Amino acid sequence: MDKRISIAIDGPAAAGKSTIAKKVAKLLGLVYIDTGAMYRAFTYAVLKRGIDPEDEKASCSIIPEVKIELCEDGRVLCNGEDVTRVIREPKVSGNVSYIASYKDIRLALVDMQRDMAKTVSVVMDGRDIGTYVLPDAEVKIFQIASVGKRAERRYIENQEKGIETSLEDVIADVRKRDYIDSHRVFAPLKKADDAIELDTSDLTIDESVEAVLKIVKEKTGREVSCR
Ligand code: C5P
Repeated sequence: MDKRISIAIDGPAAAGKSTIAKKVAKLLGLVYIDTGAMYRAFTYAVLKRGIDPEDEKASCSIIPEVKIELCEDGRVLCNGEDVTRVIREPKVSGNVSYIASYKDIRLALVDMQRDMAKTVSVVMDGRDIGTYVLPDAEVKIFQIASVGKRAERRYIENQEKGIETSLEDVIADVRKRDYIDSHRVFAPLKKADDAIELDTSDLTIDESVEAVLKIVKEKTGREVSCR
């Protein structure tokens, strides 16, 4: 393999970043890193200890006790416990943006994220990858879609996973997280100046993957077809 590269995919909640990022990583033979899963796992740890996620001091106090692992097979572990499914539950989704707004927690997780991208080529998705975590990433994409489309996709995804939510609740969750994520002081959700915006509202998954691969080819010369 030639030179190591990093691909950053940022964007608002439920824009389909992880679905696209996962496929792009597989096609290009890169490691996929879901940074949202890390904030979700931390939120799970806070809730499990009975801490109020809106209490910054108490939430940050457990940083030394929380060990998060992203496994190669896609499982997410929190202190050895498999939390892959539970971190998608409404209780975690509804509180994760508070946790993600705390600077000390972000610094701890960003350290891990940068470490992961140090030795291997990665596709990393999140909110601040292109602006803060990997500002020198070779490829930066800001993936957007209309709120309606995003909520509809997340609602179907939840149903498939057996997670009980109404479409109205999903819309409210997406709006709330977008607001908190883009208004926090430290490393907010924001398009990097050098990121390419990709609106997937009217694109299928394959078309979105194709669009990302085209950008990757333009920026890095790496070529692969998704067919
Ligand atoms: O990507 P996902 O929607 O699973 O992320 C869950 C939450 O984690 C986001 O709403 C956001 O609050 C937080 N997050 C973040 N920075 C990242 C990734 C996720 O603040 N890089």
